[in-house]
Amino acid sequence: MERHTRQRQALIDALTHSGHALSPPEILARAQAAVPSLNLSTVYRQLKALHDARKIVRVDLPGQPARFEALCHEAQAAKRGHHHHYFHCSDCDRVYPIHACPGRMAHLAPPGFEVQRHDLTLHGRCAGCATGH
Ligand SMILES: [Zn+2]
Ligand SMILES: [Zn+2]
Ligand SMILES: [Zn+2]
Repeated sequence: MERHTRQRQALIDALTHSGHALSPPEILARAQAAVPSLNLSTVYRQLKALHDARKIVRVDLPGQPARFEALCHEAQAAKRGHHHHYFHCSDCDRVYPIHACPGRMAHLAPPGFEVQRHDLTLHGRCAGCATGH
């Protein structure tokens, strides 16, 4: 396999198997097992290429470093308008995707305002932290 292809596949595999969004250093730590030649600047470059190609999702939460996640099944099926919400664990600092949406929130806006999109992040403790594991 071509070198860049192998690097990108290692990054996608790391994200797919994680279950939560990963920062570039976390992705590097996991992907290096498959591709030892990876380094952080390679990871940043390949993440950008994968993001530009819409193969991964970038998670930008206010006040947080950028994280990345794999495309979920709904997003892979190219359902239009599929978007994610997130759960941020205040103990372990992990960000988990939530594949559900409360729906349109236009009625929350003042009269005459047009809502174009929304972000929603739940904060608390993940199951592992809540049970002390
Ligand atoms: Zn946690
Ligand atoms: Zn989803
Ligand atoms: Zn939503």
